Amino acid sequence: MAGPLSPLVRATRSYPVVAATLAVGAVGGVLELAGAATAARVVLSVFALAIALRQSRGMVADLRAGTYGVDLLAILAVVSTVLVGEYWAALVVCLMLSGGEALEDYAAGRARRELSDLLARVPRVAHRVQPDGGSLDVPIDEVVPGDELWVRPGELVPVDGELLTVDAAFDESSLTGESLPVEHRRGDALMSGSVNGGEAIRVRATATAAQSQYQAIVELVKEAQASKAPFVRLADRVAVPFTLVALGIAAVAWAVSGEATRFAEVLVVATPCPLIIATPVAFMAGMSRAAKTGIIVKSGGTLEQLSRVRTVAFDKTGTLTHGAPVVAAVHPAPSWGAEEVLALAAAVEQYSAHPLAAAIVAAARERALPVPAARDPEEHTAHGVRATVDGRAVVVGKEGFVRSAAPGVAPAPLAPGQTGVYVGVDGAYAGAVALADEVRAETPATLAALHRSGVRSTLMLTGDAEPTARHIAAQIGIDDVRAGLLPQDKVDAVRAVTERPVMMVGDGVNDAPVLAVADIGVAMGAKGSTAASESADVVVMLDDLARTVRAVRIGRRTLRVAWQAIGLGVGLSVALMVVAAFGLLPAIVGAWLQEAVDLACILWALLASRPGKEERAAEVLPLTPAPLRVPAAGPGGGDRPGVPAGGRGRE
Ligand code: ADP
Ligand code: MG
Repeated sequence: MAGPLSPLVRATRSYPVVAATLAVGAVGGVLELAGAATAARVVLSVFALAIALRQSRGMVADLRAGTYGVDLLAILAVVSTVLVGEYWAALVVCLMLSGGEALEDYAAGRARRELSDLLARVPRVAHRVQPDGGSLDVPIDEVVPGDELWVRPGELVPVDGELLTVDAAFDESSLTGESLPVEHRRGDALMSGSVNGGEAIRVRATATAAQSQYQAIVELVKEAQASKAPFVRLADRVAVPFTLVALGIAAVAWAVSGEATRFAEVLVVATPCPLIIATPVAFMAGMSRAAKTGIIVKSGGTLEQLSRVRTVAFDKTGTLTHGAPVVAAVHPAPSWGAEEVLALAAAVEQYSAHPLAAAIVAAARERALPVPAARDPEEHTAHGVRATVDGRAVVVGKEGFVRSAAPGVAPAPLAPGQTGVYVGVDGAYAGAVALADEVRAETPATLAALHRSGVRSTLMLTGDAEPTARHIAAQIGIDDVRAGLLPQDKVDAVRAVTERPVMMVGDGVNDAPVLAVADIGVAMGAKGSTAASESADVVVMLDDLARTVRAVRIGRRTLRVAWQAIGLGVGLSVALMVVAAFGLLPAIVGAWLQEAVDLACILWALLASRPGKEERAAEVLPLTPAPLRVPAAGPGGGDRPGVPAGGRGRE
């Protein structure tokens, strides 16, 4: 049924006013050619006034809602050109008014191309491995954890899973912005949305589609796309003065020349389009570019805040440091054994999601210690954990927390920068485990780069003890340190910051409240699925602190481009108004010129999809440091499984 007419029909349906304007133009042209100039004037004038009326209704609604629109200029341009008999110019202005929407759609579509690509690629089927080794295509919503799936070369990993076949390289760029392929080994966790490299692989699903990373990202991106509101504010600040200047020039031109035509000629080139369209286009382009580098900015307002950020606060563990601490030493209390203390700590910590807990459990396993089961585990956020192990009450955590249950706690002989996890058993002090967490390679450079991008002060907020925090601070060059904070203290600290906007960067494990109160909450490495990324304004998909600088730079670039586009439009428009005021610009020529100005502004706004000078000069800051594994050289080894031809795999 889709005949050759259908695109035209579709366009008419989506933009009926544009179609009507063009149709009226055609009718007017025919009448004009037939010598019926009066009829043409009547038809065009009535139509133009109808459009002006429709527009003024919208304006009244805007005014009631408290936003000042720039429609007034366009309405006056239409009315005045009609009154002085420049009905063709009036029609061109109408075309701009109605076509603006179509143009905006087009420009927004280009600007958000990367965002849309991400959504368009959502996988719909998975190839489930059959008992005979073959594959059966199933809708991805039917995949359950434990299913084995084939993923063919070039296909997206449909759900989060574990790699079952030998090493393979993946393109994770649409998730993390990391452009180099990432090598994964057998048993590695794979993110849904990664693109499989050159060989067919088998994967065991570890989550349903709805709970997988890619779905979480898609939700974030949809949210980002739907946010629109704060864009307009920027232009609003210019709208009132611009309108006054335009009306002033038009009035003076009329008064001095004594010709009403001048008034119309000036207003025709007083085009409001740059103020209405350029900003949203620039913002959409900026958000899209951020998404491409694995930074999901949830709204245009956030991008604006990013461009002005003055203070950046960081969580320590997992943000400034890797968040993968390792047990460096065990310091048992007199009459206790080191292994016993570690095993008891591990018994309690196996129920905690804290990075320190994971390190202690791993250390006990590594030393092949028997880790008994514990009963009634009770986690005290930012303090530690209590549980009952073999009938004994065990308390594990911060020095002060353990002292409240075991008063004999003595400070452990920690090396600088180490964190002590203390252990109390049945009211007696048993010893402490010393853990070391390394500073990220990119941390010092990131802090320095933030300062170069306009940030005045950087701040560490940590629940860890003061000496540990100070030691790390000295290594990285941070301006201020607050240690020993509870989650509520972190919230208060961020609230108390005076140099705003303030950005808070956390790893997303227990930072949700503080991310929510910051002007810009950044959840890092959260991969879109934790509570923190819901309360965050920016989600950085890759575990890379340098992306925070990039986010700030993209914000700055976007705002600069938006203002440039506005400046260009307003500047050209004012210049044309002056020319018109001297009677040098016939209304119809002016009407077409203002369309050209609009187009120029929108094209300029699209520049926000490219990096600016500041960013290009800053590329020396490595985006992805150490943890990246370089892809294996050469073509795949002979031990890789072949492509399951015709739905049949072999292994
Ligand atoms: P950060 O602000 O560095 O992210 P947290 O607020 O998560 O630190 O924790 C603060 C401190 O509380 C830790 O440094 C640690 O001493 C203690 N702590 C919290 N949870 C645990 C736990 N499960 N096991 C041991 N210690 C803990
Ligand atoms: Mg933390």
